[in-house]
Amino acid sequence: MITFVGAGPGAEDLITVRGQRLLGNADIVIYAGSLVSPALLSWCRTDCAVYNSAEMTLEEVLEVMTKGAREGKEVVRLHTGDPCLYGAIREQMDALEQEHIPYEVCPGVSSFCGAAAALGAEYTLPGVSQSVVITRLAGRTPVPERESVRSFAAHQATMVVFLSTGMLGRLSEELIAGGYAADTPAAVVYKATWPEEKVLRCTVGTLEETAEREHVTKTALIVVGNILEGEYERSKLYDPSFTTGFRKA
Ligand code: SAH
Repeated sequence: MITFVGAGPGAEDLITVRGQRLLGNADIVIYAGSLVSPALLSWCRTDCAVYNSAEMTLEEVLEVMTKGAREGKEVVRLHTGDPCLYGAIREQMDALEQEHIPYEVCPGVSSFCGAAAALGAEYTLPGVSQSVVITRLAGRTPVPERESVRSFAAHQATMVVFLSTGMLGRLSEELIAGGYAADTPAAVVYKATWPEEKVLRCTVGTLEETAEREHVTKTALIVVGNILEGEYERSKLYDPSFTTGFRKA
């Protein structure tokens, strides 16, 4: 069996119990070495064969997976955070399906959740924002024009921007062009949940200088929105005057 496992955002104990068990049973682990902490490999058996996919092509990854699966081995493909976000798993799953090799996915804690924890933030505050936009700027991978940061900014919803730390000047311009005031609260969260985590609070207009000052050039998330500071309404769910299925007002 092949299992795609979410490694979590960094700290080795932020993998799920199931993910840890799968790592402990694995004969072969292919991990995304650019972002998955090697500390996660401490859950593997000492005789487990470990491959770093940062140095491999898709074809090479598939070869290790299919060979392992055909030999009846337990194969874990370890992706950072949760594999459903920018994980490039669809192309792997499709190739396995073509070869009639079964696979499963074990979810993980995405880095956008790790960043919220580091910030002590709730992304969905009543009266402020009830939506989270997860997006990125176009880099070598294009982003469809209809999904521009500028167009999402018009909603003033909480925004978490992946894969864009090297382009923060452009990110500020897009956010402001879309309607965010330059003084809207923002944050750069570097390596959330890793020992070297940095939480840099700033504004939409000061993203680039903030990251530069702290020498943050990659492995960061940009969080934008008024949920980071200021007023909000208390929840209805826990309001004494509000009846729910479980509690009378
Ligand atoms: N599947 C992953 C995202 C992979 S894309 C997830 O669910 O988190 C890689 C990008 O994720 C990085 O460029 C960075 O923007 C972000 N990232 C991953 N781990 C991070 C962490 N611990 N702290 C901050 N950003 C992180």
